[in-house]
Amino acid sequence: MLFSNVNEEEFELVSEFEKAGVIYKEVRLKNRGHRCQGCGTFHTNVKEYRTKKIRHSVYAHQNCFILYKQRRFICPKCRMTAMETNPFISHDDRVSDQTIINALTDLKRYNNTFTAVAERYGLSVRGVMSLFDRYCQMERNRLPKVLCIDEIYFSRKRRKKYVLVLLNFFNRAIIDVLKDRDKHTIASYLSKIPREERDAVEYISIDMNDNYRDVLQVYLKNAAIVADSFHVIKRVNKVLDDKRRKIMRRFEDNKSSDEYYLLKYRDQLLFSKSLSYDRTMNRHFRYYISENELLGMILKIDPELESSYHLVQKYILFNDHDYGGDLKTARNDLEELIIEFKLSGISGFPELAATLEYWKEEIISSFSLVKGQRVSNGPIEGRNSLIKKVLHLANGYTNFDRFRNRIIYSLNKYASHSFQRE
Ligand SMILES: [Zn+2]
Repeated sequence: MLFSNVNEEEFELVSEFEKAGVIYKEVRLKNRGHRCQGCGTFHTNVKEYRTKKIRHSVYAHQNCFILYKQRRFICPKCRMTAMETNPFISHDDRVSDQTIINALTDLKRYNNTFTAVAERYGLSVRGVMSLFDRYCQMERNRLPKVLCIDEIYFSRKRRKKYVLVLLNFFNRAIIDVLKDRDKHTIASYLSKIPREERDAVEYISIDMNDNYRDVLQVYLKNAAIVADSFHVIKRVNKVLDDKRRKIMRRFEDNKSSDEYYLLKYRDQLLFSKSLSYDRTMNRHFRYYISENELLGMILKIDPELESSYHLVQKYILFNDHDYGGDLKTARNDLEELIIEFKLSGISGFPELAATLEYWKEEIISSFSLVKGQRVSNGPIEGRNSLIKKVLHLANGYTNFDRFRNRIIYSLNKYASHSFQRE
């Protein structure tokens, strides 16, 4: 079908030819007559035809143009002329409506870049972008019951390098993207949202970032702030990793030593959740040894490393424990851990204890269950990697609004463009 929106009866194909690999279709609308705007006479008098060349990219691998013979009517009574209305183009003089719709539909796929779509439809990149800007101005979505907030590195060319992504914990829909993570940006954004909507937010999951914790609390009064447990674990693991690096430096003069090998190349064993007991041939030691035995060797290198490892394991055990929503017990356990870290006498741990103390309420809240699930930023990780992919594919965006619209349009299943045939 040449036009999905035009009935075959409405037009006639005058001729059809191919030139230099391009398909041309010469069409004319059936003469259905015209009512004169000047005197009201209904007539079918034609003065002349003018050919309009319209890009009509409806074939996968071939360019196509419509040579539309547009009719100019002339009134037999008052001589007033008028161009006939047509169903091919309503917004752009040279691009058919169908082409615009196809291009916008393709942009819905996050991995179709503006450049790729431009090439596909024989349009300019600038042209595709301006179509997008015109028909894909996306509105924000309603605040969800459980809101996840994450920072995404946007551009190094910008003074403010991070943007803030708001997502729905349950369906992963993108609520909105804010241009930076400044307090006043967040405050002015939230202040424009109706009170009832804000008051319905019950949980907000954030990284341990103190820039905006208090702003959220001001505008989302009923929400419990949750420190994303994955982020907390990262922070805890970092203390152990710093220790590993420090000890490793002592062996840098002897890079063929067992210690250097273990600390430098088998460091993942310190952070692995499950270690294998199966012995496999080890190239460094040249004998069969299991991961579990290798970890034992790592921990024997330095007593402080071993103590650090066990302290970190305690935190991980605490984090993985199923409290079944019993926040009181979680609180007790966390407070005990904080004291143990504080009094451990191992460098790095008193500081970690202070951080955990500072985020105590938010960590405890992270054990609340909503529909049987702990709130965290875990479920939105996949969304964030797609957002990063969109940025990467485009070689970055310089226009934040376009980026925001693209993210919401292409990553939210039900988001749609606003193009309508007139
Ligand atoms: Zn007339």
